[in-house]
Amino acid sequence: MSAVHPTDLAYAGGITALDVHYVRPALASSHLIFEGGRAAFVDTGTSLAVPRLLAALTEHGVGPDAVDYVFLTHIHLDHAGGAGELVRHLPRARVVVHPRGVEHLAEPSRLIKATRAVYGDAVFERLYGDIVPIARERLLATAEDLRLELAGRPFSFLHTPGHALHHVAIVDHGAKAVFTGDTFGISYREFDVDGRPFVFPTTTPSQFDPDQLKDSIARIAALRPAAVFLTHYGRITPVAATAVTLARHVDRLVDIAIGSADEPADRREQAIAARLYEFLDAELEAHGYRGSAADRRRLLRPDVELNAQGLVVWLERRARAP
Ligand SMILES: [Zn+2]
Repeated sequence: MSAVHPTDLAYAGGITALDVHYVRPALASSHLIFEGGRAAFVDTGTSLAVPRLLAALTEHGVGPDAVDYVFLTHIHLDHAGGAGELVRHLPRARVVVHPRGVEHLAEPSRLIKATRAVYGDAVFERLYGDIVPIARERLLATAEDLRLELAGRPFSFLHTPGHALHHVAIVDHGAKAVFTGDTFGISYREFDVDGRPFVFPTTTPSQFDPDQLKDSIARIAALRPAAVFLTHYGRITPVAATAVTLARHVDRLVDIAIGSADEPADRREQAIAARLYEFLDAELEAHGYRGSAADRRRLLRPDVELNAQGLVVWLERRARAP
């Protein structure tokens, strides 16, 4: 753990979780991977995190030209918003992203408009800063048979819809680990009890699909990785047991959403949020969480609000389906 950045986490395999200081400390990370003098980032945080990511290279004693890849798990702005600004400073890096993400990163105006619509202009500017387009020749789409090497360390890619249709998991064969973005849930270190993580799914608007998500979680677990790395936040084990917990949570979220479908439209999101708090509070109690109720609420609030919004969007999509 770095004294300068106490919320950074250093792991075996040349992997560090860098806090990108999105919303609050230790909520979102960019993972930096070193192998044989070469480097790769997995997710970038927003443009506001870029000075921090470049400083981390310097702290590790390498220059910006040591970075070969910026792997993006998906194009939500807390994961990929800084990629364009970052690669302006990385002369040799290619940006590796799901085929559905390529066009949005080359021409981000639609992404910006959609995010401004959700958050409003003031919050958008405070959270995200500039979104810089990426030249098409620097973008590499993840065909599922794509294999890349970082100084001989192999990486492959698994398309993992369920949180977003443009989501990929990045398989690090050297570390026997998978960088799962938001597909394998969220786990804040503040909720750890005796080293055991508390993990819960994210259903952020607008492409949550419970069946796809459970399938993606199962396919990641079937790779039998020694660990998964979550953007929110860091390394998680045991993988197989966590996959079972996540599937149970997804089923429960679906029950909560469907159970709230008859609420008046203007009350539905609030009703779902109330039930999500109730569910997560009970799960945290069973987990043995000993923090205060106020801390628990503060840590859960951003995700409960986004998850409630995403479940409303899913209910509406489900009601329109034939
Ligand atoms: Zn995220």
